[in-house]
Formats: sequence, structure tokens, C-alpha cells
Amino acid sequence: MRGLLAANTKQLVRSIHSVAAPWRSTAVGRRDSSCSSGEENAMLRHLTSKIKATGPISVAEYMREALTNPVMGYYVKKNMLGADGDFITSPEISQIFGELLGVWAISEWMAAGRPDGLQLVELGPGKGSLAADVLRVFAQLRSVLSAASVSLHLVEVSPLLSGLQAQTLLGTDQEQIRDDAPVYKSGRTQAGTPVSWYRRLDDVPPGFGVFLAHEFFDALPIHKFQRTERGWREVMVDVDPDASGRLRLALAPAPTMASSTLVQPDETRDHVEVCAEGGVIVQQLARRISRHGGAALIADYGHDGTKTDTFRAFKGHRLHDPLETPGCADLTADVDFSYVRRVAEPLAACVGPLAQRTFLKNMGIDVRMEVLLRNCDDEATRDQLTSSYRTLTDGDQMGERFLFSALLHPARLEEPRATAGLELEKKKKAAPLPVAGFAQIRF
Ligand code: SAH
Repeated sequence: MRGLLAANTKQLVRSIHSVAAPWRSTAVGRRDSSCSSGEENAMLRHLTSKIKATGPISVAEYMREALTNPVMGYYVKKNMLGADGDFITSPEISQIFGELLGVWAISEWMAAGRPDGLQLVELGPGKGSLAADVLRVFAQLRSVLSAASVSLHLVEVSPLLSGLQAQTLLGTDQEQIRDDAPVYKSGRTQAGTPVSWYRRLDDVPPGFGVFLAHEFFDALPIHKFQRTERGWREVMVDVDPDASGRLRLALAPAPTMASSTLVQPDETRDHVEVCAEGGVIVQQLARRISRHGGAALIADYGHDGTKTDTFRAFKGHRLHDPLETPGCADLTADVDFSYVRRVAEPLAACVGPLAQRTFLKNMGIDVRMEVLLRNCDDEATRDQLTSSYRTLTDGDQMGERFLFSALLHPARLEEPRATAGLELEKKKKAAPLPVAGFAQIRF
């Protein structure tokens, strides 16, 4: 099994065309996607009057409003990605990233026995670059996917970003957003692959799915808690009584519903962040995979239940005070992969987390680089390829800070049961991880 999968992955990476796609730029611009001062004030006024009317709000509510308020939310009204935005992500840095994730999706589909349907589901697709790179690999490896019917399902809250995604994937964004329908937009790629947009994962139809969540979970609201002599207390966002028009963090005087239910009884840290909304989505993924088959790949900067205070903001590629200019800066918190595992495991098997560098090397990034460099005469493109490779894999860049975990059907990691005569079936010990990217494959 292990040998077979290794051979498949190698073969798939080698079969991607050697022609380099038009390479994206890693250069970071000086301009950020700033709001006007009117926009900055509107969100701050909205939050301040809310707090004055009903009291301090949780960090989760603050994040939810600042990021996804339907009118003023950061994700709803801005294109924050790329050199001229607030941050840049791996799929925007190099097409190789999406190509290798495309190979991962195909290898999981093959490992599941090549079902007739393959739903590629992406959570928070940004500009649509990752999905486009995966679909390009699917098209190049059409002979492997044979007759499987492939469809693309995008879970996206931002009407603005859904427009960019449509441009990237369909070449046009002509369709009106349907306000009340679960599928709020749909179309077909030039190659004929159906694409549908949803606001929530729950609205994606059931079926065998490969789910990709890249820099999605870090954008979801977190609750913050602090251990005190009187027990756990929630960290809230309040108006600063000493500075008009400013917000500050303050401890809730008494337990909140969140502090009573979300902190683990055996927690050893003194400060903890819990992304309950992310937990619900991980549970939905695990439930779907256990019922209909499939696999989910979660990639984000994160930790394995060890970090304490990671809530922060980015504006114009720089760290920024998260309580300043809400709605105009990206708010984020590291993903706690131990929490992902805890909520997924009753329903799904979980592998990882593994550093991005290791995952990409296991997937064959070096082989892919070799092929691309060998076929590229243009010095500038070669430099571009090498620099993006370093950004993705170097330990002091994205190579170690970004982690990969996968949720799989529980049967995926079991070795076949052995039968002996009339004895009942005996279950053997679980096999070592034969999952592409998580197992080392010699190329
Ligand atoms: N995956 C992309 C974009 C990351 S930015 C990349 O790596 O380049 C986060 C993405 O998640 C954006 O597309 C944002 O609009 C979307 N998003 C944020 N919160 C969301 C939510 N609650 N539900 C669905 N999408 C969300």
C-alpha cells in the first residue's frame, strides 16, 4: 500500500507539464489596502456604541464584526491579498504550491478507490488562485481521473472576493449574487467544470469530497481566556475610559458562558485562545468525511496546543495593533492543531501537524523545481522560481511556521483485516501513515 501510494505520488508530480505557468510575483508593495478615515471611524463608532449600550464584547465577537460584518467587514469589502494588500499567501507566491495540493487531492481520491464523483471544496478561496492551480493539474492528469465527474465548491463570505474568484476561474464575473439562495453564484470553467459558491460549508451538497482550507481557520474568531486566582476569566474588548475613541482588552469580572465551557479541565497554560467557530467547522468536515468519504487538508500557521497569545493584526504587510482601525486590518490568530485533532477524532482520523517545508518536500517540490528549472531559459523567471521556492520552504520564512494536518476517513489508516480459518476477523495494528505529504517518499 505504502509503495503503491509513493509510486502514484511520484508519477503524478512528474506528469505535471514541464511548461511553467506565468509566475506570480513575491514582491511586496509599499501600498496597503488602507481604508479611508471615514471607513475607519464608521467601524470604530459602530463597535464603541455597541459596547456602550450592552457592555464589553468577547474577542470573538470583535473579530467577527471587524472581519465579516456584512457592510463594513474587512473580508467583505477589501481585496487584502497580494503584494499591494496586507498579506501574501503561499498560493499567491508560487503555482507549485497549488499543483502539489492538486496531486494530494488526486492521490486521496485514488486511495479511496477512485469514486465516480470528486467534489473539490475550498474554504476561504481568496483570489481563487489555489483552486485554479488544482484544476489545472486535474486537467493535465485527466487520464488518471478518467471518467470521474469533478465539481468545484467554494465557501466564501466575501462578495468582493467571490467576484475575483469568478474572474480567475471562469474568466468573467457576470452573474448576480443570489441573496437568499444557498448557492449564491455558479458557473462553469472554460474546461466545463461546474463551480458553485456558498456562504457556509453546511450548504455544500453531500458527496465524496477533498476539502482544502489554506489560511482559512486563522481568520475565524477566537475567544481569549486568562487563568486568575478565582478561576478562568474571558478577555473582553471594552472602550478605554482614559482615551476617547480607543478600545482596550479587559478581563470579565465573572465567568462567561465561553470561559465556563471552552477551556479544557486539564489545561496547563495560563493564557488560552479557543476558536469555537473553527471547531464547529472541523466537526462538520469530519462528519462529512466519515459519512460520504473524502479527506480534508488544513494548512495554516499554528501550533500544537502550546502557544498562548497569538491574536494579532496585519496592515500593509506589517504587524499592527489589533484594536486599532477594526475593519481595516487583517485580524488573525494561530490555529491550535491539538484542538483540531480533539474535535475531529471521534469521527475522523487525523494526521499531522507537519511543517510546510516537510510536507512540500514529501510531496515532491524538489522534483517539480528541477523539472521547471531545466526547462526554463529565462534568467528572471529562474530567479523568481528559486526565490518563491525559498519563501515557501525556508525555516525562517514559511517553511516551519506553516503547518499541515489532514482529516481522513477512519478506515483510511487501517490495514486490511486478516482472516484465519473460521476465526473472527482480527484487526491488525494501524499501518504507518501512508498519506501523501505526511509520509516520506523517495523521489
Ligand atoms: N485561502 C486563500 C485566502 C486566505 S484569506 C489564500 O491562501 O490565498 C481568508 C479567506 O477566507 C478569504 O477568502 C475570506 O474572505 C474567507 N473567509 C474569512 N472568514 C470566512 C468565513 N467565516 N466563512 C467563509 N469564508 C471566510
